[in-house]
Amino acid sequence: MKTIRMFHIDECKYCDFARQAIAELREENPEYQNIEIEMINEEKHPEIAENYDYWSVPSLFIDHDKIFEAALFMPYETVKEGVKLAFEKALETETEMPDDELFMKKAIELSVKAVEHGNEPFGAVLVKDGEIVFTNENQIYTMHDPTFHGEAGLIHRFCAEKGITDLRDYTLYSSCEPCFMCSGAMVWVKLGRLVYGASNIELENIIGNEGCNCSRIVFENSFWKPKVTAGVLREQAIEVLRDYFGNHEKG
Ligand SMILES: [Zn+2]
Repeated sequence: MKTIRMFHIDECKYCDFARQAIAELREENPEYQNIEIEMINEEKHPEIAENYDYWSVPSLFIDHDKIFEAALFMPYETVKEGVKLAFEKALETETEMPDDELFMKKAIELSVKAVEHGNEPFGAVLVKDGEIVFTNENQIYTMHDPTFHGEAGLIHRFCAEKGITDLRDYTLYSSCEPCFMCSGAMVWVKLGRLVYGASNIELENIIGNEGCNCSRIVFENSFWKPKVTAGVLREQAIEVLRDYFGNHEKG
């Protein structure tokens, strides 16, 4: 399914306009019903603010500073026109799911499996040259090892099995932003690229804590800095976390 990432500053009447326009346009053109809309808020998600397709106030796509000023004058029809453009753009793009989303889907599936197996909802997938080479899920309770996180566990097991210590040619997909420990492991193993779904702040907010950009803090202060892509299939990743941590303490 295609997704439009709709960026907005905060809940405001233009978000309501956008939601109304989405509903109306889907009525008018059934093709639009196959396009998912993900609402992204800059303050909460500065790390992905640059990857949006459309602002809830469309003509301000270019000038961030003028947003509040001009928002006062934006009629509903203009917002609807902008949403329609975003739908049309999504229809023109490739129908195939990009690789990042495919691999993230797998990591999220593993996060669900981890809970079924009695552990916490985190999954990780290792990819080289477009192929999955290893997967792992959180196993802290079944292995009686509080450090057996999805990512750290994957690195331990994969490197031991292959007899290697360098993952610069690999991409690691994690359903949630890696913690300080796992981010550290990614430095020591010289990981090439990290892709994650939910952020640590989003995870911690569910639990009632503040959280932080832990992977960024580690990478910025280390000798090795993996490339990072954040927020891939974020909504799905968050849903799994919410399902679990709504009923469980974090371990
Ligand atoms: Zn971890």
